[in-house]
Amino acid sequence: MRRVCQDGINYYVFEHLADQAGLSHAIFTRHGGVSHPPFATLNLSRSVGDVPEAVAENHRRATATLGIALERLCTSWQVHGAQALVLDQPNWGERPLPQADILLTNQPDVWLSMRFADCVPILLYDPVHQAAGLAHAGWRGTLAGAARAAVVAMSAAFGSRPADLLAGIGPAIGPCCYRVGPEVAEAFTRAFGPEATAWLRLADGGGPHLDLWESNRAQLVAAGVRQIEVAALCTAHLRHEFFSHRGERGRTGRFGVVIGLREGNG
Ligand SMILES: [Zn+2]
Repeated sequence: MRRVCQDGINYYVFEHLADQAGLSHAIFTRHGGVSHPPFATLNLSRSVGDVPEAVAENHRRATATLGIALERLCTSWQVHGAQALVLDQPNWGERPLPQADILLTNQPDVWLSMRFADCVPILLYDPVHQAAGLAHAGWRGTLAGAARAAVVAMSAAFGSRPADLLAGIGPAIGPCCYRVGPEVAEAFTRAFGPEATAWLRLADGGGPHLDLWESNRAQLVAAGVRQIEVAALCTAHLRHEFFSHRGERGRTGRFGVVIGLREGNG
């Protein structure tokens, strides 16, 4: 990944996605906004207890940095599942938001956005059919097969071939920091069989640690995706850069991820 600094806002881009003329995307950091601790500063979540005006200003800044209109954003109520939603138009300001952890579009200037603090952002782009996808996968979503479901949903909605897709696995809590309970480890072993052993490692006396990066990468590979870039940035380690739910014991904000198709490049 590459870190971009623009107008006081820092964000990351995947190298292979940044090269695509028809696409824009950004993985924002916690810097460049107006929120106060524990949401300092670019918190994009309305549901963590931050001041609504600050969250609104943070959204204005983030979208302005990408040169997109705030009203062109789409999002969902993220519920840790594997349901996909195809969006043809923005739903900014709609309430209640639809529940979904996978958002897809093939419409230009419809910007998919989600919020993260340890869960895995999965970005997808089909340069052949001009379509984009964004998924949110914590342990529940990973267990539910969200990464694979996102690929299947892109194929169903747009005729995407997995081999054409460019995929990015964004900053999320790493195997270094993600200790899970034995019930989570058992659920993964039950769902994925022997393959899951590679994603679970035992730290010294610390119980199993789950590798969400690798389990989602493996799901994409199993779905036929070949071009995958993994950020390998641990949000719990990089608390100065990203929000981390685990790293900050639940009292924190959410950083935003945005992806969409530029008008006139399809
Ligand atoms: Zn870590």
